[in-house]
Amino acid sequence: MSSLSFASLFALRSRLIARQTVRSFTTRSALFNAAKPTYKTAASLEEVNGSETLIGQGAKEGTFPTDLEQATGLERLELLAKLQGVELFDTKPLDSSRIGTIADPILVESYDDYRYVGCTGSPADSHAVEWLKPTVDQVARCWECGSVYKINPVGVPQDDHHH
Ligand SMILES: [Zn+2]
Repeated sequence: MSSLSFASLFALRSRLIARQTVRSFTTRSALFNAAKPTYKTAASLEEVNGSETLIGQGAKEGTFPTDLEQATGLERLELLAKLQGVELFDTKPLDSSRIGTIADPILVESYDDYRYVGCTGSPADSHAVEWLKPTVDQVARCWECGSVYKINPVGVPQDDHHH
């Protein structure tokens, strides 16, 4: 056996181990946290409590990290959601049955005060994608087709302390 094919075999074996690591994720996570009690990496959406619970632990020594092991932050949140069958980010296409106007813009639901929108005109794919950034303060108008997009804020927590 040449050293090259041995290396390939080793890599394959490591990948298999990495896969097994995912299956024992919960157990391994518990062991990891026993040694380092400073934060607990969330193993499910229910356990997510702040950004420090969204830090991937990385791979076990001598293995290739899986997506689940190395994903951190929003990427990890999205991955945890996917594992539980939840689509975290709204990737549904926007209404492209008409061109938005200043008087009657295309409404874009957003949990944040801005959102990136890819416009391809009406009907969809009429022009190359044009990235726009409507904010709660300002609508965005496509340079290609002139369609107007307006943020429709949803689910933003209301501050009840200003009376
Ligand atoms: Zn457009």
